[in-house]
Amino acid sequence: MTTVENFINGQVAASNSGRTAPVYNPASGEVSRQVVLSSADETREAIRIADEAFAGWSRVTPLRRARILFKFKALVEEHADELARLISSEHGKVFSDAKGELTRGLEVVEFACGIPHLQKGEHSLNVGTGVDSFSLMQPLGVCAGISPFNFPAMVPMWMFPVALACGNTFVMKPSEKDPSTPLRLAELLKEAGLPDGVFNVVNGDKESVDVLLTDERVQAVSFVGSTPIAQYIYATASAHGKRVQALGGAKNHMVVMPDADMDQAVDALMGAAYGSAGERCMAISVAVPVGEETAERLRAKLVERLSTLRVGPGIVDGQENDMGPLVTREHLEKVVGYIQTGIDEGAELVVDGRESVIEGAGDGFFVGGTLFDHVKPGMRIHSEEIFGPVLAISRVDTLEAAVAMVNAHEYGNGTAIFTRDGNAARQYCERIQVGMVGVNVPIPVPMAFHSFGGWKRSLFGPLHMHGPDGVRFYTRMKTITQRWPSDVRDGGNQFTMPTH
Ligand code: NAD
Repeated sequence: MTTVENFINGQVAASNSGRTAPVYNPASGEVSRQVVLSSADETREAIRIADEAFAGWSRVTPLRRARILFKFKALVEEHADELARLISSEHGKVFSDAKGELTRGLEVVEFACGIPHLQKGEHSLNVGTGVDSFSLMQPLGVCAGISPFNFPAMVPMWMFPVALACGNTFVMKPSEKDPSTPLRLAELLKEAGLPDGVFNVVNGDKESVDVLLTDERVQAVSFVGSTPIAQYIYATASAHGKRVQALGGAKNHMVVMPDADMDQAVDALMGAAYGSAGERCMAISVAVPVGEETAERLRAKLVERLSTLRVGPGIVDGQENDMGPLVTREHLEKVVGYIQTGIDEGAELVVDGRESVIEGAGDGFFVGGTLFDHVKPGMRIHSEEIFGPVLAISRVDTLEAAVAMVNAHEYGNGTAIFTRDGNAARQYCERIQVGMVGVNVPIPVPMAFHSFGGWKRSLFGPLHMHGPDGVRFYTRMKTITQRWPSDVRDGGNQFTMPTH
């Protein structure tokens, strides 16, 4: 059995912790390899290495740091098929979706390649007579990243390209469910010329994470995962004096107005609800049709489309599936449990994914696309994140009621409105309490040069990921005010506030 180890100081490093976790191929249900669960001491060693590497890396010029990232981008592109197969084999998502995830990650690398421009800071000439003021955006030191299973390439790539470009060193703790891709990315970074010790990968669980949250050498923690853990990460790391950005769970609503192009809305919903088996933090899990007539038309078209949804392994010869399996058997059982909960709560189960006939499913962790109607706030299938291919229809009478439903929800990651009415869209954008909003765009993930983040319990901490916020997060500002008098001895003592 292959063991996924750590990557420390520029090489694969075996763990002696004696603890491992199984890594599954979700399409077959078999254990394909195991991953080490590193000890606290091994995690401290990775931090020590990253701390030592900081002095050298932070003095490498931004232009040179960017050139390494340019090379890394080329290498990831060269190995894209291999990486996408690796992602699919551990996560389960279909091959083209795995390549899409890589592309979105690479866009952050492209953004980070602009670091000589991004890290310029500000400059004011003559803030007083003969006095100039300017700011330096300096790196922090060792930064840590902790990522979830659902984007094993993209989410780490939201973090480390910007952190490294800014001159920080990094310790990455990937999800133990699909750990191989970040390790491969570490090898490619080395091949691109990144000095040893600048980027390290520690595989593990809570034992490793707790060291990253509390060790005084770690300056900043970036986390993406479920809300209870995000809250724990934020509270613990902040209490230990670190800056933290902790992105949590989601329940994203898509409002469909009576004037929406229904074919376009349903096309969008199918991909947004069932793509990647619903295991996306920006997946739409609640459709909110406004008016009974809109609801009936939407439901009829969704039922029709669900009958042709192709579910099966992520990698197949011939025509690709639309959707693969869930990540683990435990997660499959959780999702199937929610389907039963919905029935027990009185929602109408319109399409039951438990009964889907799935070709080539074997013992894989499959459940088909599922649709509920008449789902109401207060039901657990409305209030909780299911993170599976289960779409709820929650009917409302007015746009006002749709806004109230979304705003009352504990999460505020993403949302969308489908309409031909610019005024309705404008009102929605202004009043909705959600971090990322789409108008006739179902999954409004900001591009790499903007920043990604939700509101309410979908994000703990003030700064979003990548884009301008990413650069702010991974640097601290120092403001210099300087004067070069013709004769320094002219200075004299000044006891009153200078007004220049
Ligand atoms: P998770 O919270 O279970 O795990 C995330 C990371 O935290 C993993 O690396 C895991 O090892 C670690 N972890 C788990 N339990 C821990 C504990 N008790 N103490 C310390 N560390 C712990 O999340 P997941 O199941 O891997 O990912 C799915 C979740 O991630 C969903 O809730 C999804 O919405 C969320 N997510 C959010 C975003 C976003 O941008 N807001 C993006 C992707 C995923």
